[in-house]
Amino acid sequence: MTNSLKLYNTLTRQKETFEPLNPPFVGMYVCGPTVYNDAHIGNARPAVVFDVLYRYLQFLGYKVRYVRNITDVGHLLGETNEGEDRIAKQARLEQLEPMEIVYRYTQRYHEVMDKLQVKRPSIEPTATGHIVEQINIVQQILDNGLAYISEGSVYFDIEKYNQKHPYGELSGRVIDELINNTRNLDGQDAKKSPLDFALWKKAQPEHLMRWQSPWGEGFPGWHIECTVMSTKYLGETFDIHGGGMDLMFPHHECEIAQAKAATNKPPVRYWLHNNMITINGEKMSKSAGNFVTIAELLTGEHPILEQSYSPMTMRFFILQAHYRSTLDFTNFGLQSAQKGYKKIMNALRTIEKMEYSPDEKAEKDEKNETQILQLLENLYKGLNDDLNTALSIGHLFNLVKKINGFYAQPQTLSQISATTFEQLKNTFTIFVRDILGLIEERPDNQEGLIQVLLQEYAEAKNVKNYEKVDTLRNYFKTNGLIIKDTKQGIDWSYDEN
Ligand code: ZN
Repeated sequence: MTNSLKLYNTLTRQKETFEPLNPPFVGMYVCGPTVYNDAHIGNARPAVVFDVLYRYLQFLGYKVRYVRNITDVGHLLGETNEGEDRIAKQARLEQLEPMEIVYRYTQRYHEVMDKLQVKRPSIEPTATGHIVEQINIVQQILDNGLAYISEGSVYFDIEKYNQKHPYGELSGRVIDELINNTRNLDGQDAKKSPLDFALWKKAQPEHLMRWQSPWGEGFPGWHIECTVMSTKYLGETFDIHGGGMDLMFPHHECEIAQAKAATNKPPVRYWLHNNMITINGEKMSKSAGNFVTIAELLTGEHPILEQSYSPMTMRFFILQAHYRSTLDFTNFGLQSAQKGYKKIMNALRTIEKMEYSPDEKAEKDEKNETQILQLLENLYKGLNDDLNTALSIGHLFNLVKKINGFYAQPQTLSQISATTFEQLKNTFTIFVRDILGLIEERPDNQEGLIQVLLQEYAEAKNVKNYEKVDTLRNYFKTNGLIIKDTKQGIDWSYDEN
């Protein structure tokens, strides 16, 4: 299969054929979490979306170095990133050391992401682990005359930068409008222009997280960590930078400005942004009471949740939408995702057990065969079209129908060729498991118990013990499974309802 992956580049505002700088190597950076609270369902989207891109690039044969950072200092509260440090505030509230907060929420982030089958990145660097590098790049920008020192802090000089490079190229924002729209906030007196942002901030006496620098004791600004950690591990210009749309401005815009101010080179070739998750049509926020963490989703412990949802249900729910569309989180939507996910898992179990036996006398069904091959190709076409998982999943459901058709009428299987059957089996399993990252949610050791119970069921049926038959059927049902009596014997499947 030829690689014709197209990705929508936010920078050029068009779909472009993906061609890495140094094939087969691909450098990919995604902005990770600020570890001061539990990951919420909005955090699940970029993690899952870029996980599928990571998996797909590897499937296409690329050697991907995937860097996703941990923000553990410098991300301040407030829209303009000028309030208290998020980590420091949480440490104060929980009466813990900032590093205890960082460690706790990093671990919890990993726990929920592991459950969602999000692969760990190749490198997961932290901002506090790269203070020296951040100081160095700030010095470089100062040396290049595009930053200035004021009251112990270092600020990026947007006006001067803009004389050389266009500021706002990613977000499409225009400087004059930005200036007009910026309110005069506290702490801006030190800056030449309200648009200028801090590269390094002087630490106030009460500030816990502080480091020695040429400009006195302080801490790095939020944007500079991503410039440093992406270019340190991926090179001055690298292939892919991803993140949520909410990070496009100012965070990513500032990343571009900082990198160009330091090296004169554009840092990123393909900028990708996933759209946001809304909850019942509304923006998620603590004040609106619809702030749901992933942990709450998995236990069902939140007033807006009608039930708990499994990690794979959430993953499938996210993948059923194209990453650039908004995704509305509702109980109904998740319940449909739960059914869809189980349909696919049932088909996966079916095709894995299905055996092909050639029948010379069987009449060939060329139409069915062509349809199957076309559907298999369409799975990849969907992903190649700007990672459109929604399209691919549509085709996947059509393949589920084909698989279920063969299961219901086993004699029709020999109407397609052995090669087509093998292709169906291989592609279906690889696509579902390895690329979409959807696995069965069933501890491995349960299979033995299930088989014992099915044996009992068969015996009860034989001796017409209908009471026991019903009890066993109900037992399976309450565990989300159903017993199937088929021509081929007794089996079980996931309850799709
Ligand atoms: Zn970032």
